[in-house]
Amino acid sequence: MSRSVLNFFIFLLLCRSCDSSRKLLLFLIDGLRYDYTDDLQNLEGFRGIVENGVKVDYMTPDFPSLSYPNYYSLMTGRFCDVHQMTGNYMWDKDSTKEFLIGTNVDSRLPLWWDGSEPLWVTGQKLGKSVYMYYWPGCEVTILGVRPSFCEKYVHSPSEKNLTDAMENSLNMLKSNKADMAAIYYEKIDVEGHHHGPHSQQIQNALSSLDQALQYLNRLIKEKNMRDEINVVLFSDHGMTELKWLEKVIELDKYISMSSIIKMMDRGPVVSLWPKEDKFEEIYQNLSRVNNMKVYKKQEIPDRFHYRNGRFVSTLTLVAEPGWFITENKGKLPFWKNSTGEAEGWQHGWHGYDNEFIDMRGFFMAQGPDFKTNYRAGPIRSVDVYNILCKTLGIEPLPNNGSWSRVESMLRSSTDVTRPALIYSLLLSLLLLVQSEIF
Ligand SMILES: [Zn+2]
Repeated sequence: MSRSVLNFFIFLLLCRSCDSSRKLLLFLIDGLRYDYTDDLQNLEGFRGIVENGVKVDYMTPDFPSLSYPNYYSLMTGRFCDVHQMTGNYMWDKDSTKEFLIGTNVDSRLPLWWDGSEPLWVTGQKLGKSVYMYYWPGCEVTILGVRPSFCEKYVHSPSEKNLTDAMENSLNMLKSNKADMAAIYYEKIDVEGHHHGPHSQQIQNALSSLDQALQYLNRLIKEKNMRDEINVVLFSDHGMTELKWLEKVIELDKYISMSSIIKMMDRGPVVSLWPKEDKFEEIYQNLSRVNNMKVYKKQEIPDRFHYRNGRFVSTLTLVAEPGWFITENKGKLPFWKNSTGEAEGWQHGWHGYDNEFIDMRGFFMAQGPDFKTNYRAGPIRSVDVYNILCKTLGIEPLPNNGSWSRVESMLRSSTDVTRPALIYSLLLSLLLLVQSEIF
């Protein structure tokens, strides 16, 4: 074999590795329902991404269709009863510690997070640098690892927080200080809860987010990064309308709350730990309640991939779509205005059966690894992990995602992008000259 032919094969090997180390910018947009972006006429930022990239019909969340369980399914590719993050509110019977959505200290204990290794931890372990902005849990030491940078979660980061995070991320990625950046944004979910999915406030919040995405598209263009980074956006779940007072299930009408050792969460999914000697009585009484189901742990349907979770309660209540389970109407969650005053009923909620259409989230992506102007079929939240691993050049850990559901949105491995082509031509030329000289 001549020297130049040998060099050519060496180049092919080199190019394979250079091709799989593109930069990744992620957006977790809480509560953005799949159909919020159906009409792109007034959403120029989203439209730019769809035209330059991929949009799936919808993304089915994991059960329960709540935030933390899905944050982790998205970043581990595993079902909830595998990664163990089974609720926004959890109770560990052994340590009596509580996980509560928000910023409480005990929720940052590794106990809740060490059930599976999220993508950012794997990335860091492999020597990649990950920058995270407002991402819930980025400040937690998971399996002994933290990201290179974490701007801690705050309640509903502002538009300024979002655009600053975009600019910082692009700068870090461009300067090779970061290989992956991840940004969390909460406003769409907050407005959906307060005013409902069909409200003007949701339209306004979408419009603000779209302005930020237009800014992002402009920055990527200005910095000449289109062929360098993949941008992936997704939500954790959708949102459905709540009709207060019409569709509330008050548990204390059916059972004595003094027979309950622990109750976690209220709404579509409620976790109950009844006293042992009252367990059967509580179960029988709740079995007769309309518009909800009560499950003993081992009766929870297989398709929920939930029942084997370490923190799953002995009884799980699941409301029919639109219904809300609470101890009594005195404990319904009002939302508060900026001065802390109770402002009104909440008009939207999520957490229901994950197959309920309104619970569907969205997924979009653009960049050198993705097809352009491509509409893909539905995916599930556990599928996202494999896409992210692929674009980062990371071998995925065992997971519950399906490669066949996501494969079509990626350019085939034989497609050579423009920078890779230029790089390959230059390197071939160099190797050829070198082989002629020596
Ligand atoms: Zn959420």
